[in-house]
Amino acid sequence: MSVQFNNIAIIGLGLIGSSILHALNVKFNKKFNISVYDTNSNHRKIIKKMNIANIVCSKINKAVENADLIILAVPVGSMGHVAKQIKPFLKKGAIITDTGSTKLSVVRDIESFIPSGVFFIPSHPLAGTEHSGPESGFASLFENRYWIIVSNKEDKNAIKLQSLFEKFGANVEYMDAEYHDKILAITSHLPHLIAYTIVGTANDLEIDLKNDVIRFSATGFRDFTRLASSDPTMWRDVFINNSEAVLEMLQRFNEDIGLLQKLIRKKNSKELYEFFVTTKKIRSKIIDAGQHEWEDTKN
Ligand code: NAP
Repeated sequence: MSVQFNNIAIIGLGLIGSSILHALNVKFNKKFNISVYDTNSNHRKIIKKMNIANIVCSKINKAVENADLIILAVPVGSMGHVAKQIKPFLKKGAIITDTGSTKLSVVRDIESFIPSGVFFIPSHPLAGTEHSGPESGFASLFENRYWIIVSNKEDKNAIKLQSLFEKFGANVEYMDAEYHDKILAITSHLPHLIAYTIVGTANDLEIDLKNDVIRFSATGFRDFTRLASSDPTMWRDVFINNSEAVLEMLQRFNEDIGLLQKLIRKKNSKELYEFFVTTKKIRSKIIDAGQHEWEDTKN
């Protein structure tokens, strides 16, 4: 299916919003009329200077009033507020999607502000880096990454979005919001929580030890600091808005770490070795699926 939008609005010009802008320009050779808005005037200035949007608006209504596709790329805790603000200005037939990292909360917060004749199709690109803001975006962010659409896969508006995301190079999958939040709790939210915890623990060490943690960080700690340097607003909102699934996965994690603790205490080398063999296989599967680090693929 060819991509069927003319006027596209993007609200939120950080890593994801600006990457979508770059991708729209690069993959479609500037064929759309794109209007954008962000509450942060400095971010608006940066996007204007980059010349990657047709109109950079200082009022949110101006950005959305002609749009046939509106993409919300703000922190999940702000989605409801933005939906409420734009409601009176939406064109009949417009499609709204979001990029939020949690889906049950975003559906809950946005749905009641969708007027009749406007279609809300939630989505989430499983692509990101630890950087945020308009200067961190790049056109290839979504290439060979999954983009989840929360909808029935026969829905004609979902299919329109699918064509767009596929043109960005993404692989589209459909699932419901509850399942999405469970999967993301273990694949993304819990790893970030663990990283924040380890870095916090290191930060609490006495001063000499802390300095040496930084000096010798390449032995493993460094990888956690990359995750733990992710945007504080985004991650605060993710944990608040996917608390149920995160707490469920955390409960399982605590049980498993207790088991490992016991194996170490009992010096059970056989079971420890078998456990590490199993986890090594997971890493190989991720590499085979092409879902490994950005450093390997970013251009
Ligand atoms: P980001 O880099 O922090 O960008 C968010 C932008 O939205 C910032 O410019 C922010 O301004 C602005 N903003 C905040 N509240 C707003 C409002 N009410 N109206 C208009 N603009 C507002 O965040 P991001 O990484 O692009 O994430 C955007 C969304 O995508 C989030 O929902 C996140 O969960 C999701 N996501 C993120 C990643 C990732 O790895 N980063 C991956 C996939 C999906 P200020 O900076 O001044 O607040």
